[in-house]
Amino acid sequence: MSEDFYDVLGVSRDADEDEIKTAYRKQAAEYHPDVSDAENAEERFKRIQKAKEVLTDEEKRRQYDQLGHDRFTEADKRGATGGGGPGGPGGPFGGAGGGGGFEDIFNQFFGGGAGGGGGRDDRPRQGRDLRTGLSVDLAEAFEGTTKQVTLTRPTSCGACDGTGHPPDADVRTCQQCNGQGQVTQVQQTPLGRVQQTSTCPRCGGAGETYSEDCADCGGEGVVREEATLSVEIPAGIRSGQSLRMEREGAPGENGGPNGDLLIEVDVDVGDRYERDGDDLRVNEAISFPQAVFGDTIAVETVDGSVEMDVPAGTQSGETFRLKGKGMPRIRRRGRGDLYVQVAVVVPDSLNDDQREALEAFAEAGGEEIDIGGGFFEKLKSSF
Ligand SMILES: [Zn+2]
Ligand SMILES: [Zn+2]
Repeated sequence: MSEDFYDVLGVSRDADEDEIKTAYRKQAAEYHPDVSDAENAEERFKRIQKAKEVLTDEEKRRQYDQLGHDRFTEADKRGATGGGGPGGPGGPFGGAGGGGGFEDIFNQFFGGGAGGGGGRDDRPRQGRDLRTGLSVDLAEAFEGTTKQVTLTRPTSCGACDGTGHPPDADVRTCQQCNGQGQVTQVQQTPLGRVQQTSTCPRCGGAGETYSEDCADCGGEGVVREEATLSVEIPAGIRSGQSLRMEREGAPGENGGPNGDLLIEVDVDVGDRYERDGDDLRVNEAISFPQAVFGDTIAVETVDGSVEMDVPAGTQSGETFRLKGKGMPRIRRRGRGDLYVQVAVVVPDSLNDDQREALEAFAEAGGEEIDIGGGFFEKLKSSF
């Protein structure tokens, strides 16, 4: 569907450059992809930029008005807006430029119009959801925490209570739609006269305008304000999960409720652990004798040190599970597990006793090893 550039900016067809620039700034701020949660915000933002580019350029605007939206954008894509006029290759009745035909004309006048609906639209509407992000470390994700998040968001204007005009402003019937809240355009086409009805861009469908706009919000009823909110981060939060703060999004229209604020959380796990859902993985070094004879080692977990038995004959790379020593399960009971992978460290220097013991060990290789014998006791005590 093609959307008229005037509609994109919400200005009338006779709006002057200042009005267009003001409308552009407002729309651009609202749909900037960094702050907007609107569907296709980025695409919309681009369209807003394009609309401003065309409507603030005298020559382009003249062509746009002459050609109509679809013809203009088509010609623009071909880079022909410099030369095309009505009747020319890019003009409505040229045909020769290709892409013309009944379907195009039909789309131009009816495209998307069916669902648009004219008339006074003062139904309460919920505001848009907004998105932001914040980061916590593993300890904070383990315990759960409260974080402050600061964002700039559209907020109902306090000066006019969101109405867009001072309380004593005079009400006037909208001159553009004569109070109807909708405007009808009639155009002559090869199919005959086609009539299109849309919401009045000047009064937004209310049928009324005011003698004076609110100085703070320029009549929009909405201003952008910085807000700092406390966010409860539940224990067990994972990277990429979003927390929803109800009614902290953009203000609603016509008394509708605010949208929500969605906060995507990033968990910085740090260097020690790897996280796999609610489980954690960690590497621990053990010595050669610990691997051979077994030992009890201290393993640092997210909530303190625990003892872990390393059985005799442990191989480097073996993994042991410490049940319930992982991350809490978010909003549920219980915890994940901690997987400890051991690596046997080969000593890079030996004293004489150690060397002697290991040489004896090497010489004894191939023979039946007697665990109970004095040989291993000697090896063990030398480390
Ligand atoms: Zn205001
Ligand atoms: Zn109106």
